[in-house]
Amino acid sequence: MPRYDLHSHSTYSDGLLAPAAVVQRAAARGVDFYALTDHDDTGGLAEAAAAARETSMTFVPGAELSVSWESQTIHIIALQIDPSNRTLDDGLAAIRSGRDARAHRIGQALAEAGIPGAYDGARRFVTSERLISRSHFARFLVEAGYAKETKDVFKKYLVQGKPGYVAHAWATLPDAVSWIHAAGGQAVVAHPGRYRVTATGMRRLLGEFRDAGGDGIEVLSPSHTPAQFTEYATYARTFGFLASTGSDYHGPGEGWLDLGDLPALPAGVTPVWSKW
Ligand code: AMP
Ligand code: MN
Ligand code: MN
Ligand code: MN
Repeated sequence: MPRYDLHSHSTYSDGLLAPAAVVQRAAARGVDFYALTDHDDTGGLAEAAAAARETSMTFVPGAELSVSWESQTIHIIALQIDPSNRTLDDGLAAIRSGRDARAHRIGQALAEAGIPGAYDGARRFVTSERLISRSHFARFLVEAGYAKETKDVFKKYLVQGKPGYVAHAWATLPDAVSWIHAAGGQAVVAHPGRYRVTATGMRRLLGEFRDAGGDGIEVLSPSHTPAQFTEYATYARTFGFLASTGSDYHGPGEGWLDLGDLPALPAGVTPVWSKW
């Protein structure tokens, strides 16, 4: 059985490894089909594709789009996109354009909570001029001793209801799906188990995603428990979505799943790669 890992990050967003290094690590770990899916950016895909040509791995060009839905941020994974597509590129540029102002507001909010210098501190962890994220704030806050691990920083400071969280308007769900389709790609709801919604809310989200033309959901993710693997496989079957799998790898020491560390998809679902 080939191994798939269809969700990961590089230094073009909030990953710690350059695209070529992530590709080499995936190949060394026995991944057969690998997608780089940086947040709101396709800048690393050319380097990753070139590095993948030196391996026996099949490279899948991707991205992870930030979307606002009701009061939440939802992530949509794009797979098999043409990175040179203008519609998608313009859409991603529009999503990224709000990030710096948002980061300044996060910095101000943290200052009001007694943590000065966070914007400049986070900037020191940024690896692509085009993208600053909460991960960079988290790394700064750990370095400055406000928490032991990035996971704890999020819990204490950076999630909804905490002092360093600021609301932000990302893309709409229908826009994100249409940009991905314009670029010839498939749209997949990332880590659905992570959203704070009731069962009714989840059905509403997935229903709107299906109405927008969405293609799949991530069934296997480090954000899910084994019980949720089964739960989201059932959602995939009920809604007629393709099923995807990804480690959401960000780099050594970040998260608890390494590239390719995923079980097989539960029986009874149609994999997102079934028509590749
Ligand atoms: P942003 O797109 O700027 O809102 O940043 C979101 C990123 O922060 C995600 O892609 C993750 O890499 C990271 N993140 C979000 N929530 C958590 C968490 N609870 N623990 C660790 N990292 C997180
Ligand atoms: Mn991330
Ligand atoms: Mn995500
Ligand atoms: Mn991700």
